[in-house]
Amino acid sequence: MAYVIAEPCVDVHDRACVDECPVDCIYDGLRKGYINPTECVDCGACEPVCPVSAIFHQDDVPREWAHYSQIEREFFEPHVSGLGNPGGAAAIGQIEGDHPFITGLDAA
Ligand code: SF4
Ligand code: SF4
Repeated sequence: MAYVIAEPCVDVHDRACVDECPVDCIYDGLRKGYINPTECVDCGACEPVCPVSAIFHQDDVPREWAHYSQIEREFFEPHVSGLGNPGGAAAIGQIEGDHPFITGLDAA
């Protein structure tokens, strides 16, 4: 199980959640943050600090954004970022891309 960052983060992406994460598993795409579902320990610390309420427990993602669980998972796979489970976002820094679904979204 893991927490998921859904659509409201896109182009807001202020990184407030990053500072709250005790295991540094929120990675920075260009337009959105991505929670690594393998590294997330389900603590919930990130959820209340998001100014646009973009973060949900996997079981509570609103239906309109249900596909974001898959987007988070795929982001770390070889055909997207290829990051796998590096064990910490700070060492990775800014990632020069997004999941293709996010790249294809119109700017807000
Ligand atoms: S706090 Fe919310 S808007 Fe900011 S980066 Fe995290 S999920 Fe995105
Ligand atoms: S639920 Fe906890 S471990 Fe998971 S991304 Fe949020 S702060 Fe990090």
